[in-house]
Amino acid sequence: MSEFNIGLGNNDTQTRKDASSDFVSFWDKQAKNLSWFSTWEKTLDWNPPFAKWFVGGTINASYNALDIHQKNKAEKPAILWEGENGDSRVLTYNDMWKQVQKLANVLKSLGVKKGDRVTIYLPMIPELPISMLACARIGATHTVIFSGFSAAAIKDRIEDSKSKIVITADGGYRRGNVIKLKEVIDDAISDLDFVQNVIVVERTKNKISLSSKDKLWNQLMGNAFDVFPAEKLDSTHPLYILYTSGTTGKPKGVLHGTGGYLTHLHSTFKWAFDIKDSDVFFCTADIGWVTGHSYVVYGPLLHGATEVMYEGAPDFPNASRMWGIIEKYKVTIFYTTPTALRMFMKFGNDLPNSFDLSSLRLLGSVGEPINPEVWRWYFKIIGKEKCPIIDTWWQTETGGMLISALPGLETIPLKPGSGTLPIPGLKISVVDESGNEVPANTKGYLLIKNPWPGMLLTLWGDDKKYHDVYWSKYKNCYYPGDYALKDSDGYFWLLGRADDVLKVSGHRIGTAELESCLVSHNDVAESAVCGIPDEIKGEIIIAFVVLKQNVTKDVSLLEKELSIKIRNDIGAIATTQQIYFVSKLPKTRSGKIMRRLLKAIANNETIGDVSTLEDGAAVSEIQSAFDELK
Ligand code: ATP
Ligand code: MG
Repeated sequence: MSEFNIGLGNNDTQTRKDASSDFVSFWDKQAKNLSWFSTWEKTLDWNPPFAKWFVGGTINASYNALDIHQKNKAEKPAILWEGENGDSRVLTYNDMWKQVQKLANVLKSLGVKKGDRVTIYLPMIPELPISMLACARIGATHTVIFSGFSAAAIKDRIEDSKSKIVITADGGYRRGNVIKLKEVIDDAISDLDFVQNVIVVERTKNKISLSSKDKLWNQLMGNAFDVFPAEKLDSTHPLYILYTSGTTGKPKGVLHGTGGYLTHLHSTFKWAFDIKDSDVFFCTADIGWVTGHSYVVYGPLLHGATEVMYEGAPDFPNASRMWGIIEKYKVTIFYTTPTALRMFMKFGNDLPNSFDLSSLRLLGSVGEPINPEVWRWYFKIIGKEKCPIIDTWWQTETGGMLISALPGLETIPLKPGSGTLPIPGLKISVVDESGNEVPANTKGYLLIKNPWPGMLLTLWGDDKKYHDVYWSKYKNCYYPGDYALKDSDGYFWLLGRADDVLKVSGHRIGTAELESCLVSHNDVAESAVCGIPDEIKGEIIIAFVVLKQNVTKDVSLLEKELSIKIRNDIGAIATTQQIYFVSKLPKTRSGKIMRRLLKAIANNETIGDVSTLEDGAAVSEIQSAFDELK
C-alpha cells in the first residue's frame, strides 16, 4: 500500500471497462455530454494520420461554454480576475455571454467570417477568453500569442496564420512594469498589409499611437448589439492554431478542431479535477500556452465552474502571491507547474505556512516531469497531506491530458513523480527503436497506439510535417518524442525528451532521473543536465545547478556531495564530469528548461531558434561559465 493512497472517494469502475472494450463507442458516449446542434453520422473517421471525430455533427464551443449555463448559472461567477497591481473583477456567466456576443458582432462588422484567422496578443485579462470565445462563436480560428513574445516572433506567427485582425492591449503588467504590447504589435505588423484592423483594449492606459487601422475595444463594444447566435459548425471545424513551446526547436503551429477537442476536455476536466459546482478552480498557466487554452478557458467553462484568473508574475510582488490568492478566493483546486513549485520551494516553508490554504482539496502539476522531492513538498506543505496530486502528462498536440491520476473517477495509490495511468480510451506503451514493447521497468519511448478526440487535426498548412514529426517513426502510432518507463504496476514515469536522453557507455539515462536526484539534495533548487560527446564513453554528463536561497556552503564541497549523491542514487555510470553553479537556467517562456541550448553551448554549436527563450541572461551566464573553463 502506498503512503499516498489518498483519493476523493470516487470509485467508478464502469468507465474504464467501457473504454477498454471499444474506445470508439466509449468516446461516442462521452460526446453526448456536450450540446450539439445536430448529431453525427460517424463517430470516428480514421485515415492515418488524420482523424475526424463526430463526422457530420454540428456544434459550437462558445455555445457550450456560455449559452448552456444561462438557465441555471447566469449569475454564477465564471471568472474571478486578479490583476497583478491588485485590481480585481468578477464576471458572471451572463456577463461573459453578453460580452462575447457583443465582440462577435464587432468582429463581424470588421469583416471577420467563418474560417478566417484572428490573432490575439493580450495579457491575462478577461478580454482574452472573451476574444477567443467570440471567434469561436463566429467560427473564426483564433491564434493566441503569449504576451511576452517579441515583434519578430509575432510577425512570424501572424504571417504563418494570415490573420486579418489582431486583438491586443495598450499594455500589460509584468513584475510591476508595463509591457507595451501595442508598440510591439505596431512593429510586428508594419509591413503585413493583409492585417486590416487592430483592436486595442485599454488596460494600463499608457500612451499609444493610433493609426487608421486601429480601433479601441471600448468604443467598438459600447455600440455593439449583445445578441449573436452561435454558428452551427462542423465538428472538425478548426477552433484554433497554437504554436508549441519551442523547447526542442522551432515552434509548430498545432491545429485543433471543435467537437473532438471539446469532448476530450469535458471528460478529462471532470475525471482529473472532480469538478463540483461549489469549487473554485485556479490554473496558473498563461492562456498563451495550451494549458491555458484547455484548462483556463475551455475545460472550466464547459463545466460552468468558477475560476480564478491571475494577470501577472507568480512571484510578484513577492513569492507568496499565489498563497495569498488561494487564501483570498478560497481556491479548492490548484493546478501549476514544476518550475513554479521549484521556485516557491527555494524560498522555504514559512511563506506558504503563514497563509490559510485549508480550502484546497486537489492539486495538479503539468509541463515537465515533477521531481519526487518537489512532489513531496507540494503534498506536505501546500496540500497538508490531504490533497491528492495529479501529475498530468500531455502536449499542445494532444489537446488535453493523456496520462494522469483521475481522482474524479477513481481512487488509486499515488507515487511521487509518476503520472500514473493513461486516461480511459487510450492505449499507451513504452517501446524500443523498432516499436516493440519493452519489459516493465525498462526505459524506452512513449507511444500512443490509437487516436483520441483531443488530438490535433494537423500542423497548420503543413500536412507533411505533421506526418513526419509524429507518425513516421512508428506506423500508425503517434510518437510524442518523450522518454518514459512503465513500472510493474503499469504506472508511467516520464523521463524527459527523447532528444535529451543521455547515452553513457551504452546506458540510456533520462534527464529527469538525474535532475531529480540533484534536486533532492537539500541545497539545490533546480538543475539541468546535458551530454557532450566523448570518444570513449559516447557521452559525458555535465550538470547546471541553481542553489536555494541563502546557501553559503563552499561550492567545491557541494560539488563533491552532489557527485557522491548521483553515484549512490543512480550509479557510477551517471557520474557528472562537471557541475556548474549558475543563478538561473535557460527556459522557455512557459517555464521549461531548454536543454538543447545547454548542449549547443557545450558543443560550440549555433543555438538555433530562440524565439521562446525567457531570459537571454541565463544563456550568457552559461556561456561565460564555459569560456572560463577553456
Ligand atoms: P516543442 O514541441 O516546441 O519542443 P514543448 O514540447 O515544450 O515544445 P508543449 O506542448 O507545451 O511544448 O509541451 C509538451 C511537453 O511537455 C511534453 O512532450 C513533455 O515533454 C512535457 N510535459 C508536459 N507535461 C508533463 C508531465 N506531467 N510530466 C513530464 N513531462 C511533461
Ligand atoms: Mg513538444
